[in-house]
Amino acid sequence: MAASAVCLGSQDRWTVVVLNYAGMGNEELEQAITLSRRLFQRIGVETTWSVCPRFDGCTLPPVGSYVRMSVVPWNRGPVLGFASTDSMAVGSPQAYAFHGPVSRVAKKTGFPSAVVLARVMVHEILHLFGLEHAPHGIMRESIDTQELATLASGPMLIPAQLRHMRDGISTLRPAGAEVASR
Ligand SMILES: [Zn+2]
Repeated sequence: MAASAVCLGSQDRWTVVVLNYAGMGNEELEQAITLSRRLFQRIGVETTWSVCPRFDGCTLPPVGSYVRMSVVPWNRGPVLGFASTDSMAVGSPQAYAFHGPVSRVAKKTGFPSAVVLARVMVHEILHLFGLEHAPHGIMRESIDTQELATLASGPMLIPAQLRHMRDGISTLRPAGAEVASR
């Protein structure tokens, strides 16, 4: 049984709903989701993704049972994404990817924008679950060509973060939340 509070860490899978405010094409979005799912698998997290073309155009799962990942067309400055830790605290986790800067990084590095977007989405979602920046891996603060080249095969997390993922996720559940039965 899931409690009303955020208890994604106690579930078998994390559910992510992508809100496509940026009007991305299906192909880019599907590629980004496929890669994101693979990246999460590499750190032992199974994820289920769905896409909402417009916020008012689909039925969302119950609040607290999913991560809301909004891809917005904002094009202000170099910031690629944002994770609202406040939203996590109130039980409705939300993160953002900014499609304008994502496209710019894609152009600059020569990688498909789906690859850059996947990297940003996974990075921001992991922020929601308490991971901070690290000198290398998916939680590196900045993105460069070399890092994108090793995204699918290089180390994803530093050892302390891997431990956090393995042991610490359950502690992110607010006190009093039920543990999902397996
Ligand atoms: Zn970050």
